[in-house]
Amino acid sequence: MLVSCPTCSKKVEWNESSLFRPFCCKRCQLIDLGEWSNEEKFIASNSPNSDGKNQPLPDVEDIEAILAQQQQDFFKE
Ligand SMILES: [Zn+2]
Repeated sequence: MLVSCPTCSKKVEWNESSLFRPFCCKRCQLIDLGEWSNEEKFIASNSPNSDGKNQPLPDVEDIEAILAQQQQDFFKE
């Protein structure tokens, strides 16, 4: 069975030897995770709550915890 890498659309064989499936390689996997976290930061920094106060930055530890959780789910069979 072949799947398309979500990052570069390269065909990836869905088997035990494709460690980063559905991505073709670790690079594509990291790019995808990076885009996800950048998007989250973008949303957080553009919240409509414009009362003149400084907006709190998104908690990096929270994002890392979510990413770690995602990776656990990702590798679960
Ligand atoms: Zn790829």
